[in-house]
Amino acid sequence: MPQTPPSVPTGYWCPRCGGKLKREASRGPGMLFGLIGALIASAFSPLKCQKCGPIPTNQLHADVRRKYRTNSILMVTAAVVVVITAVVVLSIFKRDH
Ligand SMILES: [Zn+2]
Repeated sequence: MPQTPPSVPTGYWCPRCGGKLKREASRGPGMLFGLIGALIASAFSPLKCQKCGPIPTNQLHADVRRKYRTNSILMVTAAVVVVITAVVVLSIFKRDH
């Protein structure tokens, strides 16, 4: 019987212990700038392993790093969309009143 390949782990996983990684977003600036700050802070925060602590991006597995960077870009894009939406809504609001 051929061995079944190990299932591809979902999300971010640690290159050292194989555990799950979480984005370590600092709460301070996130609270200050609301949703936009939270998105930006989260986008640039390092991944943290529950056992090994923060993992530098260059130590991540290539697949994890690609996913991490893609999600970071998506978060920054979302923040930009929120800002543009806010500006557009405000300008429409100002024009009407
Ligand atoms: Zn670990």
